[in-house]
Amino acid sequence: MASQEIETLAAALARLPGLGPRSARRAVLYLVKRRENALPALLEALEGVRDTLVECDICGNVDTRNPCGVCSDPRRDARSICVVEDVADLWALDRARLFTGTYHVLGGKLSALDGVRPEDLSIAELLERVGGGGVDEIVLAMNATLEGQTTAHYIAERLEDLPVRVTQLAHGLPVGGELDYLDEGTLAQALRARRPLG
Ligand SMILES: [Zn+2]
Repeated sequence: MASQEIETLAAALARLPGLGPRSARRAVLYLVKRRENALPALLEALEGVRDTLVECDICGNVDTRNPCGVCSDPRRDARSICVVEDVADLWALDRARLFTGTYHVLGGKLSALDGVRPEDLSIAELLERVGGGGVDEIVLAMNATLEGQTTAHYIAERLEDLPVRVTQLAHGLPVGGELDYLDEGTLAQALRARRPLG
């Protein structure tokens, strides 16, 4: 039987995506064994995140400043906005500097099953950005899941009356594939071959 403290830490870690109860216990053991070195570094990093991370008012990215590093970078082409489901997708696309425009994070995808409606996502904010002018192209980079594609079509419809070109990442992304897990070559190919959404 592990102590209450260890159980509490393991339970907290087990709630992280990708970490089940088993991996969480192993992580706890790792930290206990290396409490002189690994633990202080982790605590410091966690505190740093808690104290400095903010959500960008413009695009929804998570960064240490607001507007975020992408939105405040003058070399970025603000006329082109890539719409993604989650911050993880933004980071995946941006890791390799594949896209030179800016982003818009929806905060999820439409889902009848999970009760996610258009007003639960930052779709109104996107329409506002486009309606404000100065945007030529919207690149829809939803995941190739049914819900991702439903979301892409819904957004394309809402953008129909606005003077903006709407394109979508090329197919060839694995069905059910999450952008975050794709390698840079596949992402680059999908971006290069983006096409109008019909
Ligand atoms: Zn931003």
